[in-house]
Amino acid sequence: MNRQRMDVTIVGGGMVGTAQAALLAVRHPHLRISLLEASDMDPVVKPDAYDARVVALTEASRELLEEVGAWQLIAGKRECPYTQMRVWDADGTGSVYFDCRDVKLPNLGHIVENNVVLQALRERIEALPNVELVTGFKLESWWRDCGLWHLQSRLHDRSDDDGLGEESPVLTTRLLIGADGARSRVRDLLRIRTRDVEYKQTALVCVARCEQSHESTAWQRFLSTGPLAFLPLAGLGDDNHCAVVWSADDELARELMMLDDKAFALYLEKAFESRLGGIESVSERFSFALRARHAEAYYGPGAALIGDAAHSIHPLAGQGVNLGLMDVRVLTEEIDRALSRDIAPSHASVLARYQRRRRGENAATLKAMSTFKSLFGAGDLHWRWLRNTGLSMVDASPLLKKRIIMRAMSI
Ligand SMILES: Cc1cc2nc3c(=O)[nH]c(=O)nc-3n(C[C@H](O)[C@H](O)[C@H](O)COP(=O)(O)OP(=O)(O)OC[C@H]3O[C@@H](n4cnc5c(N)ncnc54)[C@H](O)[C@@H]3O)c2cc1C
Repeated sequence: MNRQRMDVTIVGGGMVGTAQAALLAVRHPHLRISLLEASDMDPVVKPDAYDARVVALTEASRELLEEVGAWQLIAGKRECPYTQMRVWDADGTGSVYFDCRDVKLPNLGHIVENNVVLQALRERIEALPNVELVTGFKLESWWRDCGLWHLQSRLHDRSDDDGLGEESPVLTTRLLIGADGARSRVRDLLRIRTRDVEYKQTALVCVARCEQSHESTAWQRFLSTGPLAFLPLAGLGDDNHCAVVWSADDELARELMMLDDKAFALYLEKAFESRLGGIESVSERFSFALRARHAEAYYGPGAALIGDAAHSIHPLAGQGVNLGLMDVRVLTEEIDRALSRDIAPSHASVLARYQRRRRGENAATLKAMSTFKSLFGAGDLHWRWLRNTGLSMVDASPLLKKRIIMRAMSI
């Protein structure tokens, strides 16, 4: 590894951290940037099967990927623009239908597999001379002196018998950005506390092949046990595959994970009211415990948090990555501003401005998701009436629908 002193070091090479490295590198070719990732595995995109983990990218996120040159590697290949969205309540008649033509847009967003996004971003940063990607570097400890962070890890070494690997060299940086996910080590080392809400739900994800075309539509049915989404996939020659995200109460999720594929496909088809005909096959299932988590601060001395390290959110509106990419955009704007005024990007005033612009916005989205989750989980008659009436009112109001679409797409 190159041991020279870095201007910016990003810990965590997920979608958000890699996008941050790419955007800073593209805008500031003179900055020396390193991206540290604990895993030493490259993102794998299977040529003949979809990955079950997907993201619904907003227009704002797509534009950011375009600016760093990653969208150009994805467009027209493994992405599905969705033109409509149908949301309905399992316990009543309330439903909402969104159509991109109502807002004169070509689509409402794009569904893309996580690994497709990550692979494209990796390809871009490998072509940028001022970014160094270090894989197999798991940040464990650090110290700070004279305004610099000194970072240390154990480099993963498979030949090492005790499995701990060799002691890593020390990496020194002026600005540290924590993009190391929901269980952020950077956040812990900064001693930033979080506010957590247990949803008592587990998200179960898989890919389903349906009898009928998905019609380039994102489908979401609200069951009293949690929302069930079918998101359209494209790129492998047909339009019958959907990514399924089923956020179910923990007990139900445990039962669903234990069913064999045939029994699960039947259960899924019933829960989805056979909207796309029969479920012909399902892929391997993966499950994720759901909890909302919000960092009480987004920065410490010379360090900032972005993405899931700062906030994790219920996937019912598919906003996690999108919020993380907005953090990337805003933190980069603040760094642009600081550099144009000869202020160090690690200066507290720069990081405080970033926090001011993002924390309130993210808190409002987290609150809205928790309210939605409670509203749609409530079984008693009054709540059912309220949410069904609410859905029907939204559906009957073109202006309200337009506002919701524009906000959801961050336009
Ligand atoms: C079921 C489900 C469905 C979802 N659907 C959507 C959706 O449709 N749309 C959407 O926008 N969001 C969605 N999300 C949320 C989204 O997946 C997350 O918000 C997003 O992955 C967060 O990205 P990140 O880069 O911040 O963190 P992560 O993806 O968690 O990446 C963190 C990275 O840091 C690395 N790392 C961790 N610790 C260290 C360390 N100590 N040193 C070095 N590296 C480290 C990890 O290996 C990892 O690569 C969904 C989430 C779930 C669970």
